Amino acid sequence: MGKLTTRPMGARAAAPARPWPAEDLETLRRCPVCRSTQRRPLYISVTDRSAAKAPGEWNVHRCSQCESGYLDPRPTPESMFRASSPTASRPRGEVARKLRRLSIALRNGYLNRKHGHELQPAHPIGYWIHALRYRVRARLSADLGWLQHHPPGRLLVIGTNSRTTVETATGAGWRVTLACLSDPPPDWASNLPIQVRSGDIPEPGASESQFDMVSFEDSLGRLHDPLATLKRCTTILAPNGRLRVSTPNLNAIGHGRYRRRWWRLDAPRTLIWFTDDSISRTIARAGFAVSERPRVYPAARRSFLASESVGEPAWLNPLYWVRRLRIEVEAVVADLRVHVQPTRAEDIVLGAAPAPFALPVTAGIA
Ligand SMILES: [Zn+2]
Repeated sequence: MGKLTTRPMGARAAAPARPWPAEDLETLRRCPVCRSTQRRPLYISVTDRSAAKAPGEWNVHRCSQCESGYLDPRPTPESMFRASSPTASRPRGEVARKLRRLSIALRNGYLNRKHGHELQPAHPIGYWIHALRYRVRARLSADLGWLQHHPPGRLLVIGTNSRTTVETATGAGWRVTLACLSDPPPDWASNLPIQVRSGDIPEPGASESQFDMVSFEDSLGRLHDPLATLKRCTTILAPNGRLRVSTPNLNAIGHGRYRRRWWRLDAPRTLIWFTDDSISRTIARAGFAVSERPRVYPAARRSFLASESVGEPAWLNPLYWVRRLRIEVEAVVADLRVHVQPTRAEDIVLGAAPAPFALPVTAGIA
């Protein structure tokens, strides 16, 4: 077992200036996925690199049993609100609003023709524009392709990083409930005909507590006990109900390349990082069987750019273009590698069904 020299929270004079309050920390000493105490240190004193600037320094361990990564110590469930991103979005100008609406219309134009939806607003030229955007097209298929395989019903989406799914499902006739975990409801949710709730899974037996689909959008690793939450899903799923999970992959090429600078580390909002194997085992222990594996999509470019904090383009700086070109080329190579090694993809996306009804795994259904 690796020995980890834990730096006391807030002991370093450098950033972050504020430590996480000691009374709002909990110590695990074992893997929250498989309960093994065998582990090795992965990173010490990771800080929040996002705009949220959550306080604290965090230690990441890697379980020697299931290979998941996890924070220990970590924020208590009651204090997770301190890690949330600010919800008040910047006020958009008229031009920005129109560009956003155009972007949605082009995306819907593509989805309508591709999957037979009738989403609005939509512009048919979006289909042809997306013919050139192979990365976006592949991601939409992985995230939303399931909509065409299921008749509209009740959908529970867990996690606020899900705007495209919620908008598209609502437009396709699904009755959507958005569970925000510890985050305040996002601004975009107030404009949609959906139910919004805090926390994760509604209590079984409560009104509106039966769902035909439960979708974890980048949120399983944000739960303190994902196995318990997955088990509770079996109590709120309707007969023939299905589960969808999308979560960062600790074995991703982007993580191997950027290590503690990998953008999906996102501590302390993310508490657990799964691998393809550990998520499959966790889902099986919760009583589900994997029934769908959408085709792996090329996500290395987005991961590399975000991890290198490539923000505003420096148009007149030649060094910017050299760096940008290097990332573009290396991202294409990484995406080609993922086709050979799908367990190295940036995200793990899968569908699952309660075990007695599980179907054979179908690859590339999207
Ligand atoms: Zn483990």
